[in-house]
Amino acid sequence: MNIQENISLLPYNTFGIDKIARYFVQVTSEKDIQNALDFAETKFLQVIILGGGSNILLTQDLQALVLKIEIKGIKLIFEDEENVFVEVGAGENWHEFVLHCIHKNWAGVENLSLIPGTVGASPMQNIGAYGVEIKDVFHQLKALNRKTKETEVFNWEDCAFGYRESVFKNKLKDHYIITQVVFKLSKKPVFHTEYGAIQETLEQMGVASPSIKLISDAVIQIRQSKLPDPKEIGNAGSFFKNPTISKNHYMKIKDSYPNAPGYPTEEGIKVPAAWLIEQAGWKGKTFGKIGVHGKQPLVLVNYGGGDGKAIKELSREIQKSVHQKFGILLHPEVNFL
Ligand SMILES: Cc1cc2nc3c(=O)[nH]c(=O)nc-3n(C[C@H](O)[C@H](O)[C@H](O)COP(=O)(O)OP(=O)(O)OC[C@H]3O[C@@H](n4cnc5c(N)ncnc54)[C@H](O)[C@@H]3O)c2cc1C
Repeated sequence: MNIQENISLLPYNTFGIDKIARYFVQVTSEKDIQNALDFAETKFLQVIILGGGSNILLTQDLQALVLKIEIKGIKLIFEDEENVFVEVGAGENWHEFVLHCIHKNWAGVENLSLIPGTVGASPMQNIGAYGVEIKDVFHQLKALNRKTKETEVFNWEDCAFGYRESVFKNKLKDHYIITQVVFKLSKKPVFHTEYGAIQETLEQMGVASPSIKLISDAVIQIRQSKLPDPKEIGNAGSFFKNPTISKNHYMKIKDSYPNAPGYPTEEGIKVPAAWLIEQAGWKGKTFGKIGVHGKQPLVLVNYGGGDGKAIKELSREIQKSVHQKFGILLHPEVNFL
């Protein structure tokens, strides 16, 4: 374990923000994490956990110890006729894990293809796309308690998964470091092609009977056509969550905007944040080195050399104007550091 000093975090965040970590260490085992926590204790340092840096916005230099999770390994721990249970190191790349599952013909995560980041961060915000969320394939995780430095096991019920939420973002925020996740995948796939443009894309691809590989290919094609690649333009995917409002509130919006999109959920009507931001006039707006993406207004972008604080301020302006226009407060999905 090599604790480095004054390291630029530019290569470690998809927004491409250049901020410094006072101390930085890559950890490959639980023992490494325990040693790193000991080091932080002796220096009275805050500890910040980093996976792939695809859901964070750096707004300042970090006077802290940044722990980059590099715990690897994919292990089949149990199987029966229907399912496989696979334990995955928190530092594994999410999309590479998805490709591994497709190669093995383990179904369940194909709709989550091409989401950046690590396996360890996936339960944090219950990542989701195209009608599937982590909670649908999650079995269990292991996490190190930051105080006791002991490993604890969390089952599905313990994680309190919600839309882009889990107990680790709320009640237990900053209490645990996730080290392994166990997924329950299926040997007998149920295809989810009804969501977004998957069916249409499969038809364009000339696919009559889908497979998990073909669904993954379709999802990758759709995502590449819609979302900016962080390697080309800095971003962290959707900046805000899609808000859910009451039916009455939605009907009032409909009075002025008959085409306002809305999707019924158990809690009310979910309205696409992208639509609200576009109606408030932000789509494609550029402010120096930063802006709102021209194709997908839910994505804030750094064209190069942009400042995290300026992006945070832009997000506040967007929140304000959407609130003024529709009476809806958008909540960020991205974590500010
Ligand atoms: C182009 C693009 C598209 C995206 N599309 C989607 C999408 O479709 N659906 C979706 O849900 N998300 C999407 N995202 C967001 C992002 O990919 C996910 O949130 C992902 O899970 C973040 O993983 P990460 O390893 O990069 O986490 P990081 O950004 O490194 O960390 C995110 C948070 O989790 C904490 N954390 C990370 N690892 C651990 C750990 N092992 N233990 C404890 N805490 C930890 C960090 O401290 C931080 O608070 C997208 C992002 C981009 C850039």
